[in-house]
Amino acid sequence: MKLTFLGAAQTTTGSMHLLEACGKRILLDCGLYQGHRKEAFERNRNLAVDPKTIDFVILSHAHIDHSGNLPQLVKKGFRGRVFARGQTIELCDVLLRDSCFLQNRDLEYVNKKRRAQGKALFEPLYEERDVDALMQLMTPIHRHVPTEIAPGITVTLFNAGHILGSALVQIDVTGGKGHHHRILFSGDLGQPNQPILQHYEYPEGADIVLIESTYADRLHPSAESVQDKLEMLINKVDRHNAKLLIPAFSVGRTQQIIYFLNRLHAAGKLPKIPIYIDSPLSRKATEIYARHESCYNEEALAVLREGKSPVMVEGMKFISTPQESMALNDQPGPMIIIAASGMCEGGRVVHHLKQIVTDPWNVILIVGFQAENTLGRRIVEERNPIRILGEELPLNARVETINALSAHADRDGLMDWYDRVGKRVKHAFAVHGEPEKVEAMRKLLVEHGAPDVRAPVPGQTFMFE
Ligand SMILES: [Zn+2]
Repeated sequence: MKLTFLGAAQTTTGSMHLLEACGKRILLDCGLYQGHRKEAFERNRNLAVDPKTIDFVILSHAHIDHSGNLPQLVKKGFRGRVFARGQTIELCDVLLRDSCFLQNRDLEYVNKKRRAQGKALFEPLYEERDVDALMQLMTPIHRHVPTEIAPGITVTLFNAGHILGSALVQIDVTGGKGHHHRILFSGDLGQPNQPILQHYEYPEGADIVLIESTYADRLHPSAESVQDKLEMLINKVDRHNAKLLIPAFSVGRTQQIIYFLNRLHAAGKLPKIPIYIDSPLSRKATEIYARHESCYNEEALAVLREGKSPVMVEGMKFISTPQESMALNDQPGPMIIIAASGMCEGGRVVHHLKQIVTDPWNVILIVGFQAENTLGRRIVEERNPIRILGEELPLNARVETINALSAHADRDGLMDWYDRVGKRVKHAFAVHGEPEKVEAMRKLLVEHGAPDVRAPVPGQTFMFE
């Protein structure tokens, strides 16, 4: 048996690992690398495997850095099946189409310049018809149901508590000489006790563990009261007929914010205020969250028993067209706008920002990690004046942050998980992290008793008897 680390090795994106066992070649995830445009462009185009030689893919969850290169795999000749939980398949159907649209719009812009310079044009990475073809290959696996995908290879999926449908992937491999290995891949591990979704699980007995390292060297701030802060800010904008703008990722974070608004409403603490969810992708993702009650935790189920959906709130309206979105600019407050994208790098949130930054009564609430060189980061740093769509504007609006909503477990969460799943581990691999995080994870795994610990580099292969 052979394991090769192809992506998300010494970095956080482009998750892809190759397992070769029982004569089959199986990919764990097939994600897009996300980073500087030129580098990402090169890396994503040059798949590290020949798609025609791959028999199956097992997908941990729908995020683009785990699923986003699957359509290209299909475009270049992969014809096997892609196994994932049903919720992941539904989310991929909307996320991959959205990603395809954004990429190709970007590419048009690049090609326009190249055409003017007389240079050869770039082909799209994939097109919508490739997503259609991929969806035909996607095959649901139910949680906790061991599924033999080939003789000697059985896959079982467990909750990873990260986003809807996210899974821990357990693969049992039984070789010809009766050798048995149990591989456990964490995918992205969620933060314990997050709203809406069930907690991650602890499948036992693995001898090989692949563990993510995104936040291996840090602890999340203790659960500040998200609800109290939201209440305070909403009351403030309500009093001044102002606007509260929340940039949020469409999958996961948007539904969490809606959930907290729902709880404020139930407690009689939400003033009558319009709430606009301004992103077609957020609407689709929220509808998928609303359908999958079987993934809810106890608190979310209690909301259902009150006769309400935990991902809906009174006063909430989805904004569909760009015209409706622009019209919000002329509409007087008070109002809450939840808009994509989460790091303010594109999408509708940008024109809202441009309109609201200059008014001191408005509030911008940052609820997620903001990477360097993004508009979101410049807002968190309160750069004044602030450059938005090429224009320098005074940043007069109040900027607030909530840091308690990470989708990834921190150091203590990761090690709580490892201590329970890793009792029989012989080989542990730290993946999905920047080099210093992976190194922190490597040290933690050694401290926690793992006998053989590796932090693989891209392309590195390991053999197992
Ligand atoms: Zn993820």
